[in-house]
Amino acid sequence: MKENNCIFCKIVAGEIPSNTIYEDDEFKVILDASPASRGHSLILPKEHYADIYEIDEEAAGRAMKLAKKLAIRMTEALSCDGLNILQNNHEVAGQTVFHFHMHLIPRYKDAENTDILRWEKETFTAEEMSEIRDLLR
Ligand code: 5GP
Ligand code: ZN
Repeated sequence: MKENNCIFCKIVAGEIPSNTIYEDDEFKVILDASPASRGHSLILPKEHYADIYEIDEEAAGRAMKLAKKLAIRMTEALSCDGLNILQNNHEVAGQTVFHFHMHLIPRYKDAENTDILRWEKETFTAEEMSEIRDLLR
């Protein structure tokens, strides 16, 4: 289902051009227009799901399966040294386009841009960690 004013729905529909590296019935994979590294790509389901909360489990599974396949293909083609898979949900988590997507970010040993996916570490007491564990399990 196409969502009005969704930039990724427009890319999927071919209304906005993109550098497409892979396409099948369910997914389109494009180069990110503002890449963090050479080859930074985005897996877009053709169906509009806003985020991980909305996408159905099977489609999410197939997206990860495709990520696995592309990770191998991209690493061979680009001779990168590693690769991050990233998926943001909601503005607070850095999501800027509200159509589910997975980032494939090739990483290079000698890259000048090292400021990718870094965060300051927080600390919690052992008691807090136990509370968090109990809350989540
Ligand atoms: P998010 O921050 O939502 O996880 O990621 C959105 C990504 O989409 C960003 O990395 C951004 O550069 C990319 N992006 C936004 N608009 C376009 C576009 O029109 N074309 C392409 N190829 N990428 C886009
Ligand atoms: Zn969309």
